[in-house]
Amino acid sequence: MDIILTKSHIEAAAHEAFSYATSLTGGANADYIPFLANIDSGLFGLSVMLPDGTAFNFGDTDYKFGIESISKVPTAILAMRQHTPAGVLQKIGADATGLPFNSIFAILLENDHPSTPLVNAGAISACSMIDPKGDSDAKWKAITDNITDLCGSAPVLIDELYKSESATNFNNRAITWLLKNYNRIYDDPDMSLDLYTRQCSLGVTSAQLAAMAATIASGGVNPISGSRVFDREIAPKITTLIATVGFYQHSGDWLYTSGIPAKSGVGGGVLGVLPGVLGIAAFAPPLDSAGNSVKAQAAVSRFMQSLGLGVMNGDRVTVTD
Ligand code: GLN
Repeated sequence: MDIILTKSHIEAAAHEAFSYATSLTGGANADYIPFLANIDSGLFGLSVMLPDGTAFNFGDTDYKFGIESISKVPTAILAMRQHTPAGVLQKIGADATGLPFNSIFAILLENDHPSTPLVNAGAISACSMIDPKGDSDAKWKAITDNITDLCGSAPVLIDELYKSESATNFNNRAITWLLKNYNRIYDDPDMSLDLYTRQCSLGVTSAQLAAMAATIASGGVNPISGSRVFDREIAPKITTLIATVGFYQHSGDWLYTSGIPAKSGVGGGVLGVLPGVLGIAAFAPPLDSAGNSVKAQAAVSRFMQSLGLGVMNGDRVTVTD
C-alpha cells in the first residue's frame, strides 16, 4: 500500500507521542554507573529528522546525556567502513544474544564469540578493530570524527561520567580479558576497553541522535551536511544489527510492538531508524528491567502506531510538504 504523509502529520504525531509519554511513570535511572543515578529523572525529549533535514523537536532535546550503548552503533559503522561488513561479521558476528547487554554467559554460549557489535562484548571488540591500531589518540579521533559526521555536529565527553564508569566497569574488564583469551580482541585489551568506556561517556542530544538515525535511514548521507558518511551497502547491515539486538533480550518484543528497529542506552536514549523515511530519537533517564528507557520507548512506539508505520509492513511511504 502507498502511505502519503505530510510533514505536518509527522510533526503532529511526534507532538502527540511526546505529550502521551510525558505523564508516564515507572522505571528507574541506571545506578550501576554512579553518575547516571543522579541525572534528573524528569528530563524528556523527542526528536525526529527527515532525510531532507527537516527536524521536529519536543522537550529537552538540547540536553546532553550519556550516549552509552547507542555509541555501539556509530562504532560498528566505523568498523564496517574500515573493514567491510563481511570483515565485521567474521571478526565479531551479527547474532542476537537474547541475553543482557553485559552478559558473559552469552560469550560462552556463542562458542567464545562476541556475537554482535551491539552488545558490550562485541562493542569492545569493535573498538579493538578500529584503525590505526596501537594508537589510542588516533583511534579516539577516528571514533569521535565518525560520530560527528553521523550527527552533523560534535559530541562532548562528559568527564565525570567517564571517570564514574572507568572506576566501576569490573564486568566489562572481565569481558575484555575473556575475549582476549579467545583471540577476539584485535589490539591492546586495556586500550580497547578504555576507548569503549570513553565512547559510552560522550554527551549527545536527542536532536543529534535523530540526525544520526536519519543518516542511517538515508543510506549514509547526512541530511544536515549533505555529505556521504558511509557506503550505501552499510545501511541495511547496521539496521539489521539494530533490529536484532538493539533492545537486548527485549529486542523481539520491541520490534513486534513498535515496528521500528531501535537501539537503546542506559543513559536513557533510544535511536530509531525507519529506512528511507526518517530517523527518531528520544531521551528520558528511567529504565525498564532490560535497561531501556520507559518514556522513550513509549513515545517512539506511539509515534509509529499513530502514523500506521512499520518496517515490516511492506508499505511505500512518501513524505510531502
Ligand atoms: N557503558 C555501559 C556499559 O558498558 C553501556 C550499557 C548500555 O547502555 N546498555 O555497561
